[in-house]
Amino acid sequence: MAKAVGCVSGGLDSMLTVRLVQRQGIEVLALHAVHLWHPHTPAPGEKPEAVRRVEALGAEVRTVDATEADLAMVRHPKFGMGKRMNPCIDCRIWTLRQAKALMEAEGAAFVFTGEVLGQRPMSQRRHVMQLVEKESGLEDLLVRPLSARCLAPTKPERDGLLDRDRLCGFAGRSRKPQIALAAELGITEYPTPAGGCLLTDPGFAHRLRERMRAKDVTPADVELLKVGRHFRLDDGEWAVVGRHERDNLRLADLIQPGDVRLEATDIPGPTTIVRGPADADTLAQAAAITLRYTKTPPGETRDVTVQAVGELPWTIRAAPASDEFCRERLVTIEEKS
Ligand code: SF4
Repeated sequence: MAKAVGCVSGGLDSMLTVRLVQRQGIEVLALHAVHLWHPHTPAPGEKPEAVRRVEALGAEVRTVDATEADLAMVRHPKFGMGKRMNPCIDCRIWTLRQAKALMEAEGAAFVFTGEVLGQRPMSQRRHVMQLVEKESGLEDLLVRPLSARCLAPTKPERDGLLDRDRLCGFAGRSRKPQIALAAELGITEYPTPAGGCLLTDPGFAHRLRERMRAKDVTPADVELLKVGRHFRLDDGEWAVVGRHERDNLRLADLIQPGDVRLEATDIPGPTTIVRGPADADTLAQAAAITLRYTKTPPGETRDVTVQAVGELPWTIRAAPASDEFCRERLVTIEEKS
């Protein structure tokens, strides 16, 4: 049986392409890149939701960790960024290179993706689709089953391995053809589009850009950027303050050596993390911000428990920071529209 490698995100488009290729009698080996920018980072040993969805279609799924490449691409995107911080063209090329290596190692005949011509402004324009094909070394061997009939026939189509007439000719942003095809192919459960990559999220992209201006971010810093409210402190560090119980628990999970954790001592309130070396003045600011998100009345003072990782806790007596101070220090999006 001929084999093909499919790049899958776990979204509807990639699920449809897996089925379209499988129904032509071709075995599908799926490749899923685990990006740093997904809102939910899988715990060690946890199977990403996307993998479960594609496995349910009867395809074997291999995963590849994109962490290192993700950081390199946002630092130096060769082909530029999209509207936010998303280096989609570099990212597509990187993923396709991984797929090409897998294709060669497994003796597969071609690679396919769920791309739809004209669906995304940056990476799915015709000339960009040709560019990524060339840059990944997959010229003539990269099939886009959802738009195949709008594109030049590829080698597997010309060789008769794939019947072009049983592939699709979708183009543009409408999702209706895909939803109709899902019903035809018996795919009833799939995620809603968008929301998969935080680099396209205005708030996250802004925080990442600001942090990268100040320091060389690590994967652990990126995880912190996904949680809570972020405030600039005087020494250039940030205080990250939980917005709700889920954030507080996540922040407690993310704490690492060098971090300082703050919580109001006697009343309910958020967990705050300060990453990096923090002096007494900086911690006093973080304590005041922490109290701002408790029920402490303005001007009243309370104890805040402060603990550096691996050290004994101590307390700081502080009053809640003013609304004005918090507004000034909050790292928020400066939208131009
Ligand atoms: S949206 Fe994010 S994951 Fe998708 S191609 Fe662009 S940068 Fe990569």
